[in-house]
Amino acid sequence: MLNTFRMKVFGACYAEYDNVEDLADLFRDPSLPRPFFPIGAGSNLLFLGDFPGTILHSRIRFVEVLPGDSGSVRVRVGSGVVWDDFCAWAAAKGWWGPENLSLIPGETGAAAVQNIGAYGREVKDLIVEVECLDTQSLAPVRFSVEACGYGYRESRFKQDWKGRFVITAVTFALMREYAPELDYGPVREAVAQAWGTDRDLTPRQVRDTVIAIRRAKLPDPAEIGNAGSYFRNPCVSADQFRAVRTIAAEKGFGDVPYFDTGEQLVKIPAAWLIERCGWKGFSEGNVGVYARQPLVLVNATGNATPDEIRSLENRIVDSVQRTFGVRLCPEVEKVGLPASPDL
Ligand SMILES: Cc1cc2nc3c(=O)[nH]c(=O)nc-3n(C[C@H](O)[C@H](O)[C@H](O)COP(=O)(O)OP(=O)(O)OC[C@H]3O[C@@H](n4cnc5c(N)ncnc54)[C@H](O)[C@@H]3O)c2cc1C
Repeated sequence: MLNTFRMKVFGACYAEYDNVEDLADLFRDPSLPRPFFPIGAGSNLLFLGDFPGTILHSRIRFVEVLPGDSGSVRVRVGSGVVWDDFCAWAAAKGWWGPENLSLIPGETGAAAVQNIGAYGREVKDLIVEVECLDTQSLAPVRFSVEACGYGYRESRFKQDWKGRFVITAVTFALMREYAPELDYGPVREAVAQAWGTDRDLTPRQVRDTVIAIRRAKLPDPAEIGNAGSYFRNPCVSADQFRAVRTIAAEKGFGDVPYFDTGEQLVKIPAAWLIERCGWKGFSEGNVGVYARQPLVLVNATGNATPDEIRSLENRIVDSVQRTFGVRLCPEVEKVGLPASPDL
């Protein structure tokens, strides 16, 4: 079944749709096993076992340029378009916006569910409107970006709207004017190294640089099963952050990296916490922690079971909690019934 963790799990039924009417017909069909579960590339999912219902997959694959204003251009994209294909398309046009989000696996519908983010840009910053099928009324509906409740890797599609709306298309505003975002992590330095300057760049150059950074750091799911960052970066109060700093100083871990969220919360990189607890490069049985990026749990042999991944998750969460008093939350979504609920 379609999942980048490469778990050997199956759905009772799998259905694809080409447009919103086809999708509504699937919901009307009483012969299809329930529940329904919309999927993209399965790159943020851990199936806990075989799925008893119907997996829905979008084949709505169009990219349509709409009239914009002089500074921006509006582009409507079908939910089944591979996200990175859209990034490549925009870069080839010379339009700014998605270049920092290049090479994130998955499809456009899921990108709007997840509010994908990388290197200082989140997809919510580009979204104008999201089109869906309302699975209760079976009517098409549209939501403005404001209505979608976006936050860090969050949206209403993951919360109170979960199961209610299936995304069929997303409209983005891309910029014609020079608008690179280079101020996050290694991007500016890598751009300057690759192109000899960090000025007068093209979206294509920034995209190529981001791809090179990602390839050096992250495992390719075609080679090693994984679902990207397994944990979210925890956001803690100022008091809790002070406590983490004290623990880090006592243990000789050095300065604690952080980002100020501007909402009285401090975001700490989960990778730093996991690495300080000794998990980077850990390997046991079929599973492990990726040596170049400790946020990524891997199906190292291709034969890992969901229980093995969950067991490793629990051990990491416990050790970070014991060491720093910070509880990590998974970013990866678990689907279906656990084989061993007690793990
Ligand atoms: C190597 C690797 C690197 C990654 N790097 C990043 C990164 O830098 N930043 C980042 O944000 N994420 C990253 N991810 C996570 C992942 O790629 C994103 O979350 C992506 O958006 C998931 O897309 P997908 O199509 O695979 O969705 P899936 O995993 O199939 O689904 C994700 C969720 O969206 C729902 N969904 C899917 N399609 C629809 C639809 N049409 N309508 C309604 N709901 C739908 C599903 O039900 C599920 O809840 C990475 C993953 C991997 C494997």
